[in-house]
Amino acid sequence: PQPNPEVGAAVKAADRAHVFHSWSAQELIDPLAVAGAEGSYFWDYDGRRYLDFTSGLVYTNIGYQHPKVVAAIQEQAARMTTFAPAFAVEARSEAARLIAERTPGDLDKIFFTNGGADAVEHAVRMARLHTGRPKVLSAYRSYHGGTQQAVNITGDPRRWASDSGTAGVVHFWAPFPYRSRFYAETEEQECARALEHLETTIAFEGPSTIAAIILETIPGTAGIMTPPAGYLAGVRELCDTYGIVFVLDEVMAGFGRTGKWFAADLYDVVPDLMTFAKGVNSGYVPLGGVAISGAIAETFGKRPYPGGLTYSGHPLACAAAVATIDVMAEEGVVENAARLGESVVGPGLRELAERHPCVGDVRGVGMFWALELVRDRETREPLVPYNAAGEANAPMAAFAAAAKEGGVWPFVNMNRTHVVPPCNASEAELKEGLAVLDAALSVADGYVG
Ligand code: PLP
Repeated sequence: PQPNPEVGAAVKAADRAHVFHSWSAQELIDPLAVAGAEGSYFWDYDGRRYLDFTSGLVYTNIGYQHPKVVAAIQEQAARMTTFAPAFAVEARSEAARLIAERTPGDLDKIFFTNGGADAVEHAVRMARLHTGRPKVLSAYRSYHGGTQQAVNITGDPRRWASDSGTAGVVHFWAPFPYRSRFYAETEEQECARALEHLETTIAFEGPSTIAAIILETIPGTAGIMTPPAGYLAGVRELCDTYGIVFVLDEVMAGFGRTGKWFAADLYDVVPDLMTFAKGVNSGYVPLGGVAISGAIAETFGKRPYPGGLTYSGHPLACAAAVATIDVMAEEGVVENAARLGESVVGPGLRELAERHPCVGDVRGVGMFWALELVRDRETREPLVPYNAAGEANAPMAAFAAAAKEGGVWPFVNMNRTHVVPPCNASEAELKEGLAVLDAALSVADGYVG
């Protein structure tokens, strides 16, 4: 990368003057001006290059600027940049076909949205209309999007400022063996007790009032808590028993992230509705959607579905999805995530955990991993308090600064760092990133005790 600090300064100045950033106190942020990106790397205007261990916001599953996807977007732009959603359009039809071919079970109809949050909004609307029931059950330690219904379904502090209290959402505890709410000592206990807790919640809320249970197949931003064997199958059974629609949110876990096309495939579970976004086209053009089961699609066979978007199935976004799915299939991207997750990332992180007292837990699969940083391995006290800001968050800020200093852009959320590189990252890139994390964890070790 050629340094060009003057352009960088102008980009930064205009950003600071006019761009209003997500989830931020506008005067307290300092966004890096990015000059370019390719594959697993991006660089700034000073010529500093970073290995992206975040995949953007966990969405560039095939890395930046994949030439085949860029070419497909250019071709589609030249041929038909846009077209209204009521028409049958080649890129849209083909994207829907390729997605439906890969989604589990009979999730064979695709409703396209602009991203993940609106996919969740529509999945919930479909479930309410299908069942004629009002409520949604969702988990604490979850994220389902920033729009009003989706953020109310969310189970983390991002909900609090927008909590309407009337959104028809009831939260419950999903399994999390490392920080068990159920005093469990084994995964089996955690699974059984979490299911018992969910069934009791259903009983006391009233099964006839519950339209849907929505879960991230593997919760993402909330901490990559891979569910114990049997949990998702147990939830499926409860949904069947009580006539509740089972929604899996695969916005983050889908499209190769876990080393399968969908995380649901890891657990052999088939939901009634499944949301996706991000990895569907590596985020090159905004796109999300809901994959719909036969039974729910039938509800809207003769009766109109009361929902839509101007850009539903936008041809440019769909062409990017077709090319991305083709690239993933041709280049074995899903297999790469599974293989290197098991042979390089998992063992590498476990080895770091052995040497660094600040690492309390390592969990994940594929290219979807979390390190939980703690002050004390015995008590599992988090390295920073829940939802810490400012001075209280200094240890995590110091960790992140050390990683960046070493040339790795880390994903940091509360007391965790997530290792979520592109699903086509090479073994050499992953090892390079792990070596930098090693040094950054030594900084975090300084706050232990
Ligand atoms: N659901 C999950 C599981 C997510 O991780 C996200 C975003 O991170 C969303 C929904 C919201 O997606 P979007 O930001 O595209 O609206």
